[in-house]
Amino acid sequence: MSSAVDSVAPGTDPDGLDRFRGLEARQQPVWPDADSLAAVVARLSVAAPLVVPAEADTLTDRLAAAGRGEAFLLQGGDCAETFADANATRIRNKVRTILQMAVVLTHGASTPVVKMGRLAGQYAKPRSSDEETRDGVTLPCYRGDMVNGHAFTSGSRTPDPARLEQAYRISTATANVVRAFTQGGYADLRRVHEWNRGFMENPAYARYERTATEIDRAIRFMDACGADFDALRTVEFFLSHEALILDYERALTRIDARTGKPYASSAHFLWIGERTRQLDGAHVEFLSHVANPIGVKLGPTTSPGDAIALARRLNPENREGRLTFITRMGAGRVRDVLPDVVEKVTAAGVAVTWVTDPMHGNTITSESGYKTRRFTDVLDEVTGFFEVHRALGTVPGGLHMELTGDDVTEVLGGSEEISDAGLAERYETLVDPRLNHQQSLETAFQVAEMLTR
Ligand code: PEP
Ligand code: MN
Repeated sequence: MSSAVDSVAPGTDPDGLDRFRGLEARQQPVWPDADSLAAVVARLSVAAPLVVPAEADTLTDRLAAAGRGEAFLLQGGDCAETFADANATRIRNKVRTILQMAVVLTHGASTPVVKMGRLAGQYAKPRSSDEETRDGVTLPCYRGDMVNGHAFTSGSRTPDPARLEQAYRISTATANVVRAFTQGGYADLRRVHEWNRGFMENPAYARYERTATEIDRAIRFMDACGADFDALRTVEFFLSHEALILDYERALTRIDARTGKPYASSAHFLWIGERTRQLDGAHVEFLSHVANPIGVKLGPTTSPGDAIALARRLNPENREGRLTFITRMGAGRVRDVLPDVVEKVTAAGVAVTWVTDPMHGNTITSESGYKTRRFTDVLDEVTGFFEVHRALGTVPGGLHMELTGDDVTEVLGGSEEISDAGLAERYETLVDPRLNHQQSLETAFQVAEMLTR
């Protein structure tokens, strides 16, 4: 389980980890001074890992199972974590929400649910524009707390390499709390079930009564049979984020002492975003060298050829579980665009786990001016994803969500009906709108019904 620090002689690069430096890297900050960046990178290069290679390998096995339909992935968390919200209460609420959803999905899927947070490192954001103008003043855009501050002042918006180290430290503390919650009895199945009963007390959710009653009976049946509930007191929980800032990810790469292979130590799973997945770009090149399971977001303009080429580049050995395609086509396009991609990728014999991100293809601006999403669109994209895979005989392997455990008002709709006027009440996200706690659980009940069908 040990991980040694890189011991690569200067001027050599046997693992190819630095080959990305010669290529175009999109969405990178312009750091104001090279010396302070170099000092931070030097410290991060010898810092303790957040995760170890053996855990990443376990996740590869779990994702391979999800790709075969023998497990189902639930990946969720903020669009952008913030340093200010990295406290125990907020983290606990997120973990609790994911655990509650997982129980419902496990029942629906009748398979294990692989639980993964967009958590403990989700601090860097790709943006559609490098700059932002307000009242005639133009400043660099906000790129996530790992890079600069959200406040609209020149000082705050100037990228600061010290933030890379702060992101590492806060991510480490977050990972520590997540491990405590998921290993220390907080995740006990009976307790999670009680939380779900609390949720069901609200008459707004009466339509999920049948599923909730079935789960309740299943748990009582297990109890009556003398099931070992002590074995169900802990859960496996994996960490993930978008691999965006290459200086950060490169500095936190370690050589695995068992195998000699490089692994990202910043998270178990890293994904490449829709804006940085160029076949000849720096992100694809860098991620091709780390042995962790990885994902690529695929938007509606993805051609089957693009997807196949990405798979050949990122998973040349065609190992199951190594590569996950996270499709985010939009509710209006998923049924038109996804079939061709899935069909041709499958025909090419590519091993991939298919996951739906029903958030990023469904972002709109509300009449009152908020960046939001409609709950019905989110569910419609998931429905379309299932329809496409069912029609082709391929496997819908999981769900990638932007969510929070708190009662925010960022996404329109849900049984408790958040309206355009209601968005203002508690709109907290700095980037994309997240499902709140209730909307997240509701999603789980609806997806469980899709999995049962
Ligand atoms: C995200 O996951 O927050 C994101 C930016 O997604 P995408 O790369 O799919 O646009
Ligand atoms: Mn987002």
